[in-house]
Amino acid sequence: MATLAPAGLTFSTVAHPGPVDAQTRTDVLANPGFGTNFTDHMVTIDWSEADGWHDAVITARQPIPLDPAAAVLHYAQEIFEGLKAYKQADGAIALFRPEANARRFNDSARRLAMPELPEAVFVEAIERLVQIDQAWIPEGDGASLYLRPFMIATEAFLGVRPAKQYKFIVIASPAGNYFKSGSPAVSIWVSDYTRAAPGGTGAAKCGGNYAASLVPQAEAIARGHDQVVFLDAAEHKWIEELGGMNLYFAFDDGTLLTPELTGTILPGITRDSLLQLAREEGLTVREGRYSLDQWRDDATSGKLVETFACGTAAVVTPVGKVTGRDGSFTIGSGGPGQLTGKLKNRLVAIQRGEAPDTHGWIRKIG
Ligand SMILES: *Cc1c(COP(=O)(O)O)cnc(C)c1O
Repeated sequence: MATLAPAGLTFSTVAHPGPVDAQTRTDVLANPGFGTNFTDHMVTIDWSEADGWHDAVITARQPIPLDPAAAVLHYAQEIFEGLKAYKQADGAIALFRPEANARRFNDSARRLAMPELPEAVFVEAIERLVQIDQAWIPEGDGASLYLRPFMIATEAFLGVRPAKQYKFIVIASPAGNYFKSGSPAVSIWVSDYTRAAPGGTGAAKCGGNYAASLVPQAEAIARGHDQVVFLDAAEHKWIEELGGMNLYFAFDDGTLLTPELTGTILPGITRDSLLQLAREEGLTVREGRYSLDQWRDDATSGKLVETFACGTAAVVTPVGKVTGRDGSFTIGSGGPGQLTGKLKNRLVAIQRGEAPDTHGWIRKIG
């Protein structure tokens, strides 16, 4: 499946003939919300067995023609990524670790039997979209331009095998602060459903995983909680992650634990970045297994002082309360913890260009 683009895949640009007017855009950027407003342009690149990656275009954002027999509509051959462009303190525009998203995108592509996209092409597509739509990057605390690269199987064919035609697309959506006033602690529900089984697609960022998480998430909301946490599918004992965020546990002896990447957990780039930042803060960070029973016991005894979830969209979110079939327990004071706040500030400062980028995580767009 690994098919490299012909050397020198060139992008062409067909600028939007009637972009959104400046006043409407200003109004949107004043209160962008999340995922409901979109910029003027998109990037598309096609793949076929015969031609590999071809026809890279930056064009007006518009509906895509799709045959009703397109494989994605039937067998869900779809993968995606999520990352953000930030307006930095000095006015520069920066992406955070886009190469890591490119690498993970190809990991997902391999799992879903889809063609790999050269990492440089993935990053260039994003850079070009951010450049042409840079007027859409909101400014202010927690604001960013959310980028959504994805790939779908477009071949019209109902047989069950990997498709022979694909489309890679990047769209962009201005995003406000996920939580308007800081990060309140969320309450989470321990689901009886599972998200990913050993040997399944849990480590791939594919739409199918999300489709399967909607009922458990809706159940959590119906029960009065904010989010759902999934346990492992084999023993229904080990904590894995939320529907779209990884988890961290902080203990009173200065250690930090995050569930190890067993193949059923999505390897978050925020998770990986915090792993490095926490070690630099002098914390002992372990990747390992942690059971629901242990979590409850440690929270009750006070050994566990904080729990937080992390991901690109909401960055770092404290977990205050956990409820399952056997009842509830509260973590620490039930509110945002100190370490959670400290790690979040460290990460956000790097993303915003307010702290030195000693890891080579920032890619500026000139
Ligand atoms: C994207 C995602 C995450 C978080 O990954 P980041 O790279 O930190 O945004 C966590 N869990 C799931 C299931 C995801 O899809």
